[in-house]
Amino acid sequence: MIINKLLKYRPVFAWYWLIVLYSSYVTVLNHNFYSEYLRRISESNNSELILKISLPVIVFLFSCLFSILFSSRFILKPYLSLSILILSLVYYARTRFGVLFDSEMIQNVVETNSQEASTYINFQSFFFFVITGVLPAVLVWFPKIVYSKGNLKSFLAKTAVFVTLFTVTAGLFLINFKALSVTYRNNKYLSKEIIPFCAIVSTTKVIYRGIKANVAPPEYQHYAKRAMLYNTEERPTIFIYVLGETARAANYKQNGYERNTTPYTDEQEKMIFFRDVISCGTSTNVSLPCMFSSKTRSEIDFDKTEFEDGLTDFIEKAGYEQFWMENDSSCKGVCKNIKNYKSFEKTLIEDNEILSSKCKSEFCYDEVLLADLDRILAAKDNESKVIFLHLIGSHGPTYFNRTPEEFKKCRLTCETSDLTKCTQEEIRNAYDNTLLYTDYVISQVVNKVSTYEASHNIGVLYVSDHGESLGENGLFLHGSPYYMAPNFQKRVPMQLWLNRNMLEARNIDRECLVQNSLIKEKYSHDNLFHSVLSILNIKTEYYKSDLDIFSSCKK
Ligand SMILES: [Zn+2]
Repeated sequence: MIINKLLKYRPVFAWYWLIVLYSSYVTVLNHNFYSEYLRRISESNNSELILKISLPVIVFLFSCLFSILFSSRFILKPYLSLSILILSLVYYARTRFGVLFDSEMIQNVVETNSQEASTYINFQSFFFFVITGVLPAVLVWFPKIVYSKGNLKSFLAKTAVFVTLFTVTAGLFLINFKALSVTYRNNKYLSKEIIPFCAIVSTTKVIYRGIKANVAPPEYQHYAKRAMLYNTEERPTIFIYVLGETARAANYKQNGYERNTTPYTDEQEKMIFFRDVISCGTSTNVSLPCMFSSKTRSEIDFDKTEFEDGLTDFIEKAGYEQFWMENDSSCKGVCKNIKNYKSFEKTLIEDNEILSSKCKSEFCYDEVLLADLDRILAAKDNESKVIFLHLIGSHGPTYFNRTPEEFKKCRLTCETSDLTKCTQEEIRNAYDNTLLYTDYVISQVVNKVSTYEASHNIGVLYVSDHGESLGENGLFLHGSPYYMAPNFQKRVPMQLWLNRNMLEARNIDRECLVQNSLIKEKYSHDNLFHSVLSILNIKTEYYKSDLDIFSSCKK
């Protein structure tokens, strides 16, 4: 009876009003996201009014856009109900426990047993869920909804609404692009604040991952199993591979830059600078696996690199002792088989006074990597070894934190992580200081290893993983999709130092290398795997001589 009476008052309206109501609800419950974003932005006093208004409007429009995709008769109400239930749960978790629902969190939830989960259920949470979740989810079913007819005309109308909303959302985003993107890059967790979409996307990811894990993972490829030295050598080899971070080729005098950012290595006459080397990716995640893979950029499948041997496996198999010194975030899996691994994370070296004096904020200056170098070089000095030094280099946006005070040769630097607060000149100064400092560190590596010049074959290779945008065309930092990324992000410095013993042992014509190094864009990350094998005298069927920078310079 009551239900029948209630049904008499059932409102009737078009489907898009339901979406508007739903999106308004979503917009209100996202207040944590706005305040968090604005707090991050206003830390640098950049909270303009237009931005404050834009954030909720962007969320509202985005919610409308997303919901339109589910706007047909039998899908809209179930979608909205389910979405409201999720919204309520993640809103509660966020507000009460400060939990953000990314895929790791969803995975945790899936793996949590029911007993553990029950500890979160109490009268307060239950009441909250009923009021903000169950009730509105039920209310969605109350009104009678008029859906658009399934004809071409209504389809076109829906598409037109979608395109218009999309354009307005994109427009609002672009107006605030600079402030939004820089703040986001510094605080990537912010995207996880957008509820319930973060949770929906994360859940989809977890389900996809689960399906993929159940389907047999690719069989591990032991590419390196037949790798060996060509011949036993007269002298032991020391090869130091310095992996740079975010150094861009454009800021080197060899590429026409007006400042000299290599004053320290300039004094080392054996140093060769390669002009405009092409990077494989625009981020560490992409470039590092690529630099260590036997495959070229066009051949590589990034889902499979963890299931196949890379450069370090070939080196290991050939009998070299390897060391990895880490001062960046991580080696992104490429050092997984190296036993001598050391990370110079500040928290790990706090009890070492000398080392921790080389740290600022959460990271350490790259000089910490030199601390162990003497010891490694001195130990078992008649054995061949390969030492990887992974620099933090020019990692932004806090360039000013990468350089000790005494190396801040360019004055007037940008001293905040919010690059939009600085002039182009201040950013450039701070960035160039990081290159100068990296150059100092490389020169120190060469100085230390030079002690062994007479007795060893020695090579030092420095190459950066990707470049950086410093505000050109409104772009900052890196990680732009490769096809649209500017060359600032895709051209990197590379330097090589070989002692006379090494040149002789490998029959290399140094002058030929120098001539090739002057040719712009002659080399790319694709050359690294094959050239390193070559300089280490390693024989394998995966070696390609046309990608080896030394092969055309053999005497
Ligand atoms: Zn990087």
